Amino acid sequence: MAFEGLTGRLQDAFSSLRKKGKVSEQDVQDAMRQVRLALLEADVNYKVVREFVNSVREKAIGEEVLESLNGGQQVVKIVYDELSELMGGEQAEVVTSYIPPTVYMMTGLQGAGKTTTAGKLANFLRKSKNMKPMLIAADIYRPAAIDQLQTIGEQLNIPVFSMGDQVSPVEIAKKGLEEAKAQNRDLVIIDTAGRLHIDEVLMTELKEIKTAVDPEEIFLVVDAMTGQDAVNVADSFNDQLDISSVILTKLDGDTRGGAALSIRKVTGKPIKFTGTGEKLDALEPFYPDRMANRILG
Ligand code: GDP
Repeated sequence: MAFEGLTGRLQDAFSSLRKKGKVSEQDVQDAMRQVRLALLEADVNYKVVREFVNSVREKAIGEEVLESLNGGQQVVKIVYDELSELMGGEQAEVVTSYIPPTVYMMTGLQGAGKTTTAGKLANFLRKSKNMKPMLIAADIYRPAAIDQLQTIGEQLNIPVFSMGDQVSPVEIAKKGLEEAKAQNRDLVIIDTAGRLHIDEVLMTELKEIKTAVDPEEIFLVVDAMTGQDAVNVADSFNDQLDISSVILTKLDGDTRGGAALSIRKVTGKPIKFTGTGEKLDALEPFYPDRMANRILG
């Protein structure tokens, strides 16, 4: 299960604090040392950990907490609030266009779950916002990516625009957008190419598509199981492409938590959804407060 280790360790760190009424500065220091280790072990970015622990410590060693009769509980509450804040605090909604269609680009490394998530997102927004989506197959490099998107489209009964793999992705994106307008579709989701590693050719192509279609959102899809790598990938994509949001997949696996807790702080961009399974309805809006609750157990 996701966050299992982190939750266990945080509960250990707080078990004696929770029982105490009045807490001393030393109690807080001890608990913070354990929180720090728990976060590092969960693969949270070390700078994020340092800032987080400093911020909690500063608030927890304040007079009010130390003089309070339920200081232990208050320290735990501070950790909860700061965890939620670390992940963005408020839930971040998707951006839609006043003038349809709304255009989204799906980006990410191969295997992160980009193509599957394109279908999930189309399905989710059709259900929750009554939108009429069209998927565009602009990943012409990975063998079978186009077929995969078409299969997903058939399963969901959502049209998929494709021009095969001999036309440039920029051209496919532009033509797909025209087709969506002609068919009165109000949501266009473009599945772009991924690669095993970030490279210049990939980034150049993504920038060209971005310029050509001017999307409302560029979603970066990252695999939560890859921890710090996911955070580094997000940082690079954001530097080069100025992504708008992150979708964290495979949260149904036993991810340690590093990506979920670091990405917002490192990139400044919100996580808007999480993938929680292989099925096409396994996509959930991301709520930082609920996630903080889940992590604290
Ligand atoms: P892409 O190369 O980024 O387009 O990745 P795919 O969409 O082909 O996904 C790669 C694999 O990850 C597929 O087997 C998906 O079913 C799987 N996958 C995607 N999202 C999730 C998720 O949230 N949870 C789980 N368990 N598997 C996922």
